[in-house]
Amino acid sequence: MSLFSAVEMAPRDPILGLNEQFAADTNPSKVNLGVGVYFDDNGKLPLLQCVQAAEKAMMDKPAARGYLPIDGIVAYDNAVKALVFGADSDVVKSGRVSTVQAIGGTGGLKIGADFLKKVSPGATVLISDPSWENHRAIFQNAGFEVGSYRYYDAATRSVNFEGMLADLNAAAPGTIVVLHACCHNPTGYDITAAQWDQVIAAVKAKNLTAFLDMAYQGFGHGIAEDGAVIGKFVAAGLNIFVSTSFSKSFSLYGERVGALSVVASDKDEAARVLSQLKIVIRTNYSNPPTHGGAVVAAVLNNPELRALWEKELGEMRVRIKEMRQKLVDGLRAAGVQQDMSFITTQIGMFSYSGLSKDQMVRLRNEFGVYGTDTGRMCVAALNSKNIDYVCQAIAKVF
Ligand code: PLP
Repeated sequence: MSLFSAVEMAPRDPILGLNEQFAADTNPSKVNLGVGVYFDDNGKLPLLQCVQAAEKAMMDKPAARGYLPIDGIVAYDNAVKALVFGADSDVVKSGRVSTVQAIGGTGGLKIGADFLKKVSPGATVLISDPSWENHRAIFQNAGFEVGSYRYYDAATRSVNFEGMLADLNAAAPGTIVVLHACCHNPTGYDITAAQWDQVIAAVKAKNLTAFLDMAYQGFGHGIAEDGAVIGKFVAAGLNIFVSTSFSKSFSLYGERVGALSVVASDKDEAARVLSQLKIVIRTNYSNPPTHGGAVVAAVLNNPELRALWEKELGEMRVRIKEMRQKLVDGLRAAGVQQDMSFITTQIGMFSYSGLSKDQMVRLRNEFGVYGTDTGRMCVAALNSKNIDYVCQAIAKVF
C-alpha cells in the first residue's frame, strides 16, 4: 500500500479552472473576465514604467543577492508604513507599527493568521459573505474556525450594512474580523466613511480584532483616500492588522510583493510583536525574496519614480472607471432593459453583475466570455476592443 493511497483529490481552484478552460477555448473572440488582473487597453498585462526605470537602475549597478533580514528590506518596510499609515503619522513615529515584508498580500494574511493563532488561539474568524475565497482557507489552515458576517444584499444590489453591523455586534469578544479596506472583492461594493465609523465603534465596543486586507490601495479613489480607513482605526486606539499587496498596484503579480503591518499599543509591545512575526516567517520560509521588494522600495523612496507610479496607478484607476461607464452604456445600447447603472457605483477591479450562474455558463459556452459562476466580472480586463462584444454577449443571455 502506498503512503498516499488514502490521499483525496483536492477540489480544483475555481478561478484557475476557468483559466484552463479559457486557454483551451478556440473562440477567436473569447474574453477572460475571470481572473483578478488588470490589463491595459490592448489587453496586455502592463509592465509599469516606474518598475522598468527602477530595474534599469538596478541592472546598471548590479548587486549580489545575499539573504534579506527575516522581516525584509528596511527601506521597503518603512515605505509600506508611510503608504499605509501616512508618512508623518504619530503611530509610525512613535514606533507602534511592526511591518514585515511578505510574499504577496496572501503572505501577509498568512503571517498574520499564524501569529494570531498564538495570541488568540480560541478566537473565531469572521469574513464577509461573500469574500475573496482564500480568506476562509488561509484562516482555516491556520487552525481557526471561520464564519461570516452579512455583506452583500443581492436584492438591493448593495451592502446589507444593517446585517453586517448586527453580525459584528453579535460576535463574541476577541473575534477576528477580516475586512476589505477598499475595493471589496468580489462584489465591488465598499461601505461609506460614516459606515466605517460605525464598524469601528462595534469593533471597539465588542473588543473584536480587525484584520484589514488592503490588496487594492490606490484602485478605489486614490492612495491616501483608500488608506484613510486605516487612519480611522488607528485614531480609535485599536490594535489592528493590515495586509498590503503590490501585486495589482505595481502590476508585479509574479514577484509576490506584500506586507503585514501590526499596530501595537506602544513601542515595547511593537518590538515584542515583531519578534514573534519573525518567528512565524523564519519557520515558514526563513526570509523573503529580494527582487520585488527592492523594486517597490526603489520606486516608493525616489520622488521621481514615486510620482511616475502615482501617475500610472491613477491611469489604471481611471481606465477601470471608464470601462464601468462604457459597460453600462454599452449594455443599454445592446438592448438590456434593466438599469445596470449600479456597475458605476461599484469600485475597484470587480463587478458583481447580478447575472445568474446559468447566464454566466451561457456567456462562457456560447460566447467565450468568462466570468465566475457568482456573476463576478473583472472590469479591469475590459478594453475598447472587447467591450462591444461583451455587451452584446451579455444582452443575448438576458
Ligand atoms: N486579498 C484580496 C482581497 C485579493 O483580491 C487578493 C488577490 O486577488 C489578495 C488578497 C492576494 O494578493 P496577492 O496576489 O498579492 O497575494
